[in-house]
Amino acid sequence: MTIQSAPRTDLDDDIAVRTRTAVLAALADRIVGDVYGPGDPGYDVSRRGFNVLADHRPAVIVCAVNRFDVVEAVRFAAEEGLRVAILATGHGPGTAADGALLVNTSAMTDVRVDPIERTATVSAGAKWGPVLEQAQQHGLAPLLGSTTDVGVVGYTLGGGFGWLGRKYGLASDSVRSFGVVTPAGEPITASATSHPDIFWALKGGGAGSIGVVTDVVLDLFPVSTVYGGNLFYPAEDAAEVMRRFARWAPEQGEDLTSAVTLMNFPPLEMVPEPLRGKSFVLVRGCWSGDLEVGKAVIDEWRDWKTPAMDMWGEMPFAAADSISMDPTDPMPSMMTTEWCDDLPDEAIDILVSRVLPRLGSTPIILLAELRHSGGAIARGAAEAVNDRGRSGTFLLEMVSVVPDPHVGLAVESALRLTRKALEPYVTGAAYLNFLEGEERVARSASSFSDTNRARVAQIKASLDPDNRFCHGVTLT
Ligand SMILES: Cc1cc2nc3c(=O)[nH]c(=O)nc-3n(C[C@H](O)[C@H](O)[C@H](O)COP(=O)(O)OP(=O)(O)OC[C@H]3O[C@@H](n4cnc5c(N)ncnc54)[C@H](O)[C@@H]3O)c2cc1C
Repeated sequence: MTIQSAPRTDLDDDIAVRTRTAVLAALADRIVGDVYGPGDPGYDVSRRGFNVLADHRPAVIVCAVNRFDVVEAVRFAAEEGLRVAILATGHGPGTAADGALLVNTSAMTDVRVDPIERTATVSAGAKWGPVLEQAQQHGLAPLLGSTTDVGVVGYTLGGGFGWLGRKYGLASDSVRSFGVVTPAGEPITASATSHPDIFWALKGGGAGSIGVVTDVVLDLFPVSTVYGGNLFYPAEDAAEVMRRFARWAPEQGEDLTSAVTLMNFPPLEMVPEPLRGKSFVLVRGCWSGDLEVGKAVIDEWRDWKTPAMDMWGEMPFAAADSISMDPTDPMPSMMTTEWCDDLPDEAIDILVSRVLPRLGSTPIILLAELRHSGGAIARGAAEAVNDRGRSGTFLLEMVSVVPDPHVGLAVESALRLTRKALEPYVTGAAYLNFLEGEERVARSASSFSDTNRARVAQIKASLDPDNRFCHGVTLT
């Protein structure tokens, strides 16, 4: 059945020789889920996810429904010398999976919470929503990020910085074990005692590059009611609010994970009226300690200046989505990132002038958020594979919407030029979860110290010598 040596870029050539339909039918016989080639009904919907800017054209898509499907799909790819890409929700697309075998895990949605062990066992395609919902029934919480709509496994493989981060660390720190199918198609369990090297590499550094994760066991934490929300200050106050935040946040305890966000709310009907089409600077976050103390911490802002809108208050952690208000409908977007140790006035001025629109102009960058890091996130760096990519004080995330592919270059250039202007103030390391597409290829190596990069590259080379898993994190 073998066609030729790996890696190849296009199955279609071979299929022309041996008939494409027969090969796909043979694969379909091995898979419980669906198998699609180009032109099949189901092909288009299975190659798309949340970020509709990603336009993958795989040679074959396997919609896996269980671990055995993943094993068969990966073995088939190995036999045929095909590259392998993975799609769960499509929130973090890598390079286009053209000509590859795409494993779509979105039907693998099992979630099981064990309140005694305080763990969640989560399949490859599950989102955070059901994990949070089940965990909260027992007063427990996972280390999810700004939205329950993101996939648990993809998020965790890239680190996973959420509103409990400074207290409990990144989601990757909370992993007890991964079920993995290696590039050779061997199913293994990776944990501290079983394949510990692979376990270490996957905990924050392995998205898509050293196998397909089929399930993960995660620790849960005792969090039920929190003090969280947003203060909305007018855009005119942006520089002043950001300067205050740069001094204030590092003085706070680890019960607080907070951010300052420049936000240009789009003029869309889905955006509530008082925000629609307007720009604000937000002080947002989540306090997971004593609620009275949390209120006093945020009162410092209220006493300093009354916000235009105040949405901080006690809330069940189950409602954590309301802090970031991330969109849930698929959209064409671009995201980029930097780490800063300090936030001098010059850096703040660059962000304010480039993100907030001048009178009458349309904003290009939708959001620029500086998340305050440190605490357990920084402490965990020494043990973590992605040590550099979790070590700064402030994590910058910038997001743009690309309403029309024709403006894609202009949007990309606005993000790149903003990063360029910030060059003197950044650490040079990238946070893996906020890298996409070609930028992930170009910058993911900066998330690792030289020692860790060499170690993870060795692990990768032993598992995937032909680099067929090349659509995830890149190490060179
Ligand atoms: C609206 C929004 C909000 C976000 N908020 C946060 C946040 O608060 N904190 C944070 O840290 N990140 C955040 N992210 C980034 C997000 O965590 C990454 O994009 C992550 O990669 C998404 O994983 P996914 O599985 O949902 O997406 P996908 O695009 O399906 O997968 C992303 C990548 O992960 C790899 N991957 C997925 N599944 C597997 C698997 N089973 N085995 C091996 N590799 C796999 C693949 O390489 C794939 O390209 C956010 C992104 C968006 C769009």
